[in-house]
Amino acid sequence: MLLGALLVPQTAAAAPAVRASCFAATGLVQTVDHPRLPARADWICNGRNPQNTPQVSWVFFTPDDFANKGLKPSHFVTDIARFDRISLIVMDASGPLRSRTYSMEDVGHFVNGPKFALPLPDMQGATGLVVAIEKPWSGVIASRASLQVQQTPTDALGWSDDAMLAIALLLGMMLTPLLYHAVFHRILREGYVLWQIASATSIIALITIHSGLIHHLIGIGMETTIQLSMLALMVPMVFSSGFLLSYLEVEAIPEGMRKLLKSVVIAAGLTLTFIALPLAFLRPLTAIAFLLIPIPLAAVAIASAAMAIRSGRRIAWAQLCSWAALSLAYLFNAVRGFGLVMGDGWVDVGFVGAITLHVAVGVFAVLYRVDIMRKERERVNARLDALTNLIDLDPLTGIFNRRAFEQRFVELRSDGFHALAVVDLDHFKRINDKFGHATGDRVLQEVAAVLAGDKDAIGFRMGGEEFVVMMRGSQIQQRAEQLRRAITIRIANEVEGIDAPVTASMGLIESPPGGASSMRQLYSHADRLLYEAKYSGRNRLISERIQIFEPPSRERRMKDRRNADRRAEG
Ligand code: GH3
Ligand code: MG
Ligand code: MG
Repeated sequence: MLLGALLVPQTAAAAPAVRASCFAATGLVQTVDHPRLPARADWICNGRNPQNTPQVSWVFFTPDDFANKGLKPSHFVTDIARFDRISLIVMDASGPLRSRTYSMEDVGHFVNGPKFALPLPDMQGATGLVVAIEKPWSGVIASRASLQVQQTPTDALGWSDDAMLAIALLLGMMLTPLLYHAVFHRILREGYVLWQIASATSIIALITIHSGLIHHLIGIGMETTIQLSMLALMVPMVFSSGFLLSYLEVEAIPEGMRKLLKSVVIAAGLTLTFIALPLAFLRPLTAIAFLLIPIPLAAVAIASAAMAIRSGRRIAWAQLCSWAALSLAYLFNAVRGFGLVMGDGWVDVGFVGAITLHVAVGVFAVLYRVDIMRKERERVNARLDALTNLIDLDPLTGIFNRRAFEQRFVELRSDGFHALAVVDLDHFKRINDKFGHATGDRVLQEVAAVLAGDKDAIGFRMGGEEFVVMMRGSQIQQRAEQLRRAITIRIANEVEGIDAPVTASMGLIESPPGGASSMRQLYSHADRLLYEAKYSGRNRLISERIQIFEPPSRERRMKDRRNADRRAEG
C-alpha cells in the first residue's frame, strides 16, 4: 500500500500547464461589467498569494507563461473551494478585451484531483489573463491555480490519468484487508475490528472524494462535493478514536482520559459539521477550523496511546503510529488548504502517503492483536488438555481411572486392544485390617505401578482394589499371567512390613475383531471369569477366547448332507 502511495505521481500534471505569476487581494468591486483591476502596485509577483480569504482574490497569468511555451491554454484549473463568482478577463495592451464569469452552479467540469476546471474565453490577441475570484473560502483557489491545455476532449485535466490509476490501485489494495477483517470479526466478535473496518472505509471514501475519483462514479455538484469532502475529513478521526478506545483494554487508558477523548471527539465532530455548512460568516474560519480542530483531538489520542505504552502495553505503539500518520495527513491537508504551497506536488503525495500509512498501521494493529489472541487461545487449549488429562487420572495411583477407560475404550479397540483383563487383589480387606489403610494404599500404588502398562498394555484403576488391563499383540495369556505374578513380587519387594504374599486373581477375555466388542459385554464377561477364579481358590488366571464361528459354505453343507444320507442308506 505504501509503495502504491508513492506511485501516485501527482507532480506530473496531466496536461501542459502554466502557473500564475502575480497575485493580489482587494475589497469587493464590480468585476463583470466595469472591471476595476488592482493597481499595479497592489500586485505581488514573488509567487505568494497575499491573503487567503479577501473579498476578491486576483490572479494574473502573463502572456510569456504560455506564449513562450507555444501553448494555447484552454482551461482555468484550480482546487475545489467555495466562491461567489470567478471572472476570467482576457487582457490586451489597452485593457480588458473580453471576459467570462462563472458561479458555483456553473461548474460542471470536474477533473482529476480535488479540482475543477473553467473553460477560458477566446484567448485570441491576449497579452494576459486576469482572474478575479469573489469571496473565496480558501486560499487554494488562487494559490493552486493554473492554466491548462486540453488538446483533445479526452485529455485529462488536473492530476494525470496515471496518478488516478495509481489511486484506484491503492484503493483496491485498501479493500483487501477490509475483506479479511470482516472474516476476523465473524470469528472474534471483537469491537475493535469493526472500528478498524469503519475507519479504513472512511479513508477509502476520503481518498475517493479528495482525488476526484468520485466524479467518475456519480454526478454531484460543487457544493455537495465540498460538504462531502469536509465530512470525509472528519469521519476518520471519529472512527480512529473508537478504534483506539476499543483496541486497548479499559485499564490501559485512565478513565478521565477516555472521557476526555470521547468529549473531544464529540465536540470536534459537531464543530466541524457546523463549520462545513455554507454560512457566509464562516468564510474566513473554515480553513483555520479544519487546521486547528483536529489538533486537540490528535493530542488527546496520542497522549492516551502514550499513557498505555508507559503502563506497559506494547500494542499501544500501533495506535501511536497510526495517529501520528493521521495527524501528518491533516497537517499536509492544512498546509494545502492555507494556500501555503503553490501548485501540485509534495503536499498531495504527502497527504495520500500519510493517510495510507495510517490505514496500513491500522491493518497491522488488527493483525498484531489477532496474533496475540491466537497465542492466548493456544495457551488456554494446552491448559485445557492438561486438565482433561488430570480428570482422567486416578489421584491415588496416578494411572488412568474408570472415566478414562470408558472414554477411550472404543478408540483402544480400534487400535487393536482386543483383550481385556480384570484384576482383583485377594483378601485385600485383611491387609487393611491388619496393617492399616495407609499400607493398603501403598499396596494399591505398587499394583498400579505394575499395571500402568506400555504401548501394548494399558492399565486402569476401576475403583477399590479392582483394575482393568487392555492388551493387544501376541501371547496375551502369557503376558497377562506375568503381570498377575509380578504384582505379588513387586508388593513383596516394595511394601515393607507385609509378612504374607499378596496375590491377585484375574479374568481375561480375548475377543478378536469381529467378535463381541461392546465394552459392557467384554467387561462383564471378564468379570464372570474373575469370579470363577476367586471361586476356584483365588491367585489364578482364568481366560477365555471368543471363537468366531464361521459356518461352512453352502456346497460343503450339501455335500455333508449327501454323505450322511448315503451312510444312512448304506
Ligand atoms: P476378595 O479376595 O474376595 O476380593 O476379598 P477382598 O477383601 O479383596 O474384597 P472386598 O471387596 O471384600 O474388599 C475390598 C476392600 O478394599 C474393602 C475396602 O476397604 C478396600 N479398599 C477399597 N478402596 C481402597 C483404597 O483406596 N485404599 C485402601 N487402603 N483400601 C481400599
Ligand atoms: Mg479383592
Ligand atoms: Mg474387590
